[in-house]
Amino acid sequence: MYFSFMNPLQSKLPNVGTTIFSTMSALATQYNAINLGQGFPDYAMDNCLVDLVHQHMKNGNNQYAPMPGVLSLRSIIAQKIKNLYGASVDEQTEITITPGATYALYNALATVIQKDDEVIILEPAYDSYIPAIELQGGKVIPVALDAPNFGVNWQKVANAINYKTKVILINTPHNPCGYCFTQSDWDNLYEIIKDKNIYVISDEVYEHIVLDGLSHESILKQSRLWDRTFTIFSFGKVFHNTGWKIGYCVAPKNLMVEFRKIHQYLAFSVNTPMQMAIADYMQDENTYLNLPEFFQQKRDLLLRHVSETGFTLYEPAGGSFFQVLGYKNISDKNDVAFAEWLVKEHGVATIPLSPFYSSDYDGKFVRLCFAKEDATIIKAIEQLKLVVAHV
Ligand code: PMP
Ligand code: GLN
Repeated sequence: MYFSFMNPLQSKLPNVGTTIFSTMSALATQYNAINLGQGFPDYAMDNCLVDLVHQHMKNGNNQYAPMPGVLSLRSIIAQKIKNLYGASVDEQTEITITPGATYALYNALATVIQKDDEVIILEPAYDSYIPAIELQGGKVIPVALDAPNFGVNWQKVANAINYKTKVILINTPHNPCGYCFTQSDWDNLYEIIKDKNIYVISDEVYEHIVLDGLSHESILKQSRLWDRTFTIFSFGKVFHNTGWKIGYCVAPKNLMVEFRKIHQYLAFSVNTPMQMAIADYMQDENTYLNLPEFFQQKRDLLLRHVSETGFTLYEPAGGSFFQVLGYKNISDKNDVAFAEWLVKEHGVATIPLSPFYSSDYDGKFVRLCFAKEDATIIKAIEQLKLVVAHV
């Protein structure tokens, strides 16, 4: 038998397992269930965009893109930001295309965090934030969002700030709760950090998925916060192609210089033909401006039938393609056990909320993704109606 001299590898993330998204998708496959868990569409993306990629590949655009991204893509993004948020962003120095938003978030956190810096996150929070902060030697300071609408209690945020606070991480529209920032949220944030050396990382991957006539209040509209902000976006949510993993970061030049120092050694660049194709495709702004209408209909379809199930709707999602529902009238299981039971016994995969928290949480909520064919949503509702009858 072979004898190894190696000690066991010391884990940098000793408390981390497989993400809940992978776990629930695997269970959905195993039990042949309807997957309303992991956030991805089950319908096809626009073939025109696929054709554009093909065309760019055939035209020979298959070598490294420039490190910050294909210029035509950065130009059209700058134009979009000007049109929608009124901000003038320099396409040369203030936009970097990244392999997805998860990467951009990681890179931004790596750019600002020094050992023992504190980072405030608002919980429930997207699951990549905490490991990304801790890998930089930072300390996570969670502040709870208040149910039922999961808005921000700014007094609690102010109380969490001290001389070690380096970053506040914002996510609007919010995953999983769908809360959308208002101007008053930004005013409150500004008031509590204006005389402090605190950066803001604003995760706005659902910028175009705002419902009920709301508008997306991007941090890019807040010129007072510009000098301290990294804003993160993802094309996967906008063009229904989460598997392409392309996103971007917007930040002022002095911050972007440091961001790019890391990016150039982590990925260097993002695949060329897809960037070129997206740049062409975005020339027509309807490719992203029609998203609210598209998703409103899907969310409403889901909500129209919730009262026929044992699940409780506390607050319709204002943005994102997720809806949180309560299940306390159905079961007293914890949310992970409930979600596992639901997928195995009733054939519907959802995402429990506790993995979005840094410590124990048992609010008895699950998240449902409605970026699905209408037929999928209807089928899921039919299954969910049976849940009550079976308990
Ligand atoms: N932030 C939030 C809030 C998300 O829900 C997601 C997941 N889609 C991401 C970031 C990551 O996006 P990407 O797939 O582009 O890495
Ligand atoms: N953002 C997606 C969600 O919230 C999941 C992405 C992932 O699987 N890491 O469902």
